[in-house]
Amino acid sequence: MSDDFDLVVIGAGSGGVAASRRAAGYGAKVAIVESSRVGGTCVIRGCVPKKLMMYAAQYGDAFREAAGYGWNLGHPHFEMPRWAAAKAAETQRLEHIYRQLLAGSKVELVEGRAVIDGPQRVRVGDRMLQAKHILIATGAAPVRDSIPGIEHCPTSDELLDLHLLPPRAAVIGSGFIALEFASILARLGVAVSLFYRARLPLRGFDEDLRTRAAAALQAAGVMLHPGAAPREVQRAGGEWLLILDDERMLEFPFVLNATGRRPNTAGLGLDKLGITLDAAGAVPVDARLHTAAEGVYAIGDVTHKWNLTPVAIAEGRALADSLFGPSPREVDLSLVTAAVFTLPPLATIGPTEADALAAGHKLKVFEADFRPMRQAFIDGAERCYMKLLVDAQTDKVLAVHMLGADAPEIVQSLAVALTAGVTKAMFDRTIAVHPTAAEEFVLMRDPSRVVG
Ligand SMILES: Cc1cc2nc3c(=O)[nH]c(=O)nc-3n(C[C@H](O)[C@H](O)[C@H](O)COP(=O)(O)OP(=O)(O)OC[C@H]3O[C@@H](n4cnc5c(N)ncnc54)[C@H](O)[C@@H]3O)c2cc1C
Repeated sequence: MSDDFDLVVIGAGSGGVAASRRAAGYGAKVAIVESSRVGGTCVIRGCVPKKLMMYAAQYGDAFREAAGYGWNLGHPHFEMPRWAAAKAAETQRLEHIYRQLLAGSKVELVEGRAVIDGPQRVRVGDRMLQAKHILIATGAAPVRDSIPGIEHCPTSDELLDLHLLPPRAAVIGSGFIALEFASILARLGVAVSLFYRARLPLRGFDEDLRTRAAAALQAAGVMLHPGAAPREVQRAGGEWLLILDDERMLEFPFVLNATGRRPNTAGLGLDKLGITLDAAGAVPVDARLHTAAEGVYAIGDVTHKWNLTPVAIAEGRALADSLFGPSPREVDLSLVTAAVFTLPPLATIGPTEADALAAGHKLKVFEADFRPMRQAFIDGAERCYMKLLVDAQTDKVLAVHMLGADAPEIVQSLAVALTAGVTKAMFDRTIAVHPTAAEEFVLMRDPSRVVG
């Protein structure tokens, strides 16, 4: 088999698979190199197994609520080994589908670790692949050196492969991965303590979501420790010892390192191409996803922009269209929807209120904060919060922020309207679907404040 390719993609995750299949669809000769399992982070150790664990956790809430709806379920309990076996089978099934998709698209899968050997050359073991174009789609991995001693602590990678849950756990971090697992573990019977440096978790999200996300975690029994980032982790007997800035020492049988992720570039050979990493360790690209080296491109988490699967896929497809399709195009990332799958979840599109004000908008802020019907019936505490940011001059809806049941599903649909440039008047003209929580979005009449 000839080792000359039009495109060599490094990394068979969300972005790499999308790019390679789209390029092959145009008739390009494509190889994709993968050093681990096909499917990448999202399928094997990210979005998919995480959401399957969230579904398991959701039953904990559902069983509790069921009593209020007249059900008598006895004493349901969670058996982690059964979930772990089912999860392993499901990721295997999905990996198999990904392999079939690559083969069906006539993309050659080369298994092994890729190292860039020089312009247009990628080495995988003994094999040297010649490539007109090289695409770096190597993703990211958990940071394991953020605190002394944390390198031995499990990360989300290991947590998702557990067969038994600990009785108590410390989660270190306040990003979406930390919050999701704190929320999930608490529902599965683990006593969770969450440690983070800031006043509120979820830096970068709207302040009103951040305060409510913290309150929801607390309501689920998670012990919050804001302003308390451990400065060291030690192994003591079978336990982990967290040493906090104020010298307090706390023991836990399990510590989840959720302190962030770093682009996978180590040993890739980028220096041979004259590519210098940015401060975050990411591969810098321009709007067309070109790196500083001729014929070398990067997409997805290795560029450290949005770090979301749909962004990696959109970039992969846009790049393939540009290199091999009829006309070059760029991905518009001005409006990206993001979700956090806590229980209840939150979802967001558009700027935070603070960012919109900083950008010079005069804002009408519409809000609804209520106990949904499903909760009110059983006298449950869970609430739903919705927020629309509307430009006071143009009436354009700039942002939607929501925390509550089904927020990711609801905001995904509203994202179409925002992408189309929807105005508040159009929301007002929309006939509601009743009874739903989502109808509140088209029933907000008066702004709760006008700012800016
Ligand atoms: C716990 C968790 C939950 C997440 N949840 C969500 C979510 O709910 N929604 C969402 O949109 N995103 C989520 N993400 C993020 C999402 O998984 C990533 O944004 C996405 O997978 C990025 O795709 P990618 O193609 O850039 O990289 P990846 O999917 O990481 O793929 C990169 C691939 O490159 C391979 N590789 C690396 N170096 C080499 C090399 N030198 N040679 C060969 N192969 C190499 C890796 O093995 C990997 O398979 C989550 C991530 C995590 C960790």
